[in-house]
Amino acid sequence: MTHSIHHITANSGNLDRTLDFYGRVLGRRLVKKTVNFEAPSAYHLYFGDETGSPGSILTFFVWDDTAPGRLGIGETQDVGLAAPRQSLGFWMHRFIQNGVSFSPFEKRFGETILPFRDPDGLRLALVGVDGLENQLGYEGKDVPAEHAVRGVHNVTLLIDRSGPTADILTALLGYRRVAVDGYVERYVASGGAGIIDLRAAGDFLPARAGAGSVDHIAFRARDIAELRTLTHELVARGVEVTEEKDRTYFKSVYFRTPGGVLFEIATDGPGFLVDEDAARLGTDLKLPAALEPQRWLIESALPQAASLLPV
Ligand code: ZN
Repeated sequence: MTHSIHHITANSGNLDRTLDFYGRVLGRRLVKKTVNFEAPSAYHLYFGDETGSPGSILTFFVWDDTAPGRLGIGETQDVGLAAPRQSLGFWMHRFIQNGVSFSPFEKRFGETILPFRDPDGLRLALVGVDGLENQLGYEGKDVPAEHAVRGVHNVTLLIDRSGPTADILTALLGYRRVAVDGYVERYVASGGAGIIDLRAAGDFLPARAGAGSVDHIAFRARDIAELRTLTHELVARGVEVTEEKDRTYFKSVYFRTPGGVLFEIATDGPGFLVDEDAARLGTDLKLPAALEPQRWLIESALPQAASLLPV
């Protein structure tokens, strides 16, 4: 059983900036506009490919004007997004045109990467992947399908020591260690997208959550049966897990790894078409049934986007 990456959720400090950056600059599709089910005063935006398929999704809790986070132990150091290798030049050009903060090309694990940051300082990188040019991505407003970001390639976790988190990855999530580059160990889920890199940093300041920091990483479960099997295995190993949550678009459980990073297991279904047609994904504010009675209150408290149209 392998469980590659389903989605990654981060914190944003501004609605308009996030809509513009991911929807326009990065050319991702806003596939769902909802709220944080536990804190409905915050938007929860999902960006992905055409239908928001598992592995393509980055999501954001939008906390307007929240303080920036601080990188430290127990957090994601950076998120790599897959793009065709020959598209990296297109992207560097686009970053310059749009004033995106980026660093020169680097090589990691033999791959060419273009590190950059979102407007909140979230550390991202485009990773040039061979072979992607043969499958078209989502056609953004002014990002041609051939250059499109395809989805999450890898995440690097900054933890004190790698062993206990590596155990969870290999014993439960079907990952195996494939390489070491400097201080970073690379783990890959066989047959699925999503690479986890573990960077053991020993004693270092703990992370502080805020704008520009990753909240959690979700791994795929095929269905509810697989989610429950995995939950039982986690409990049997003494890992504390949350109750099963209904996130409308998937069911999930959460647990904190020994390294301090929040992991989620999320089912592939039912997906984002469950409450919106493919053509209208991301158009309307969607609320779970339990919050519908408070829709008026929730809508009037949420910040309004400068553009109400999906980007
Ligand atoms: Zn999640």
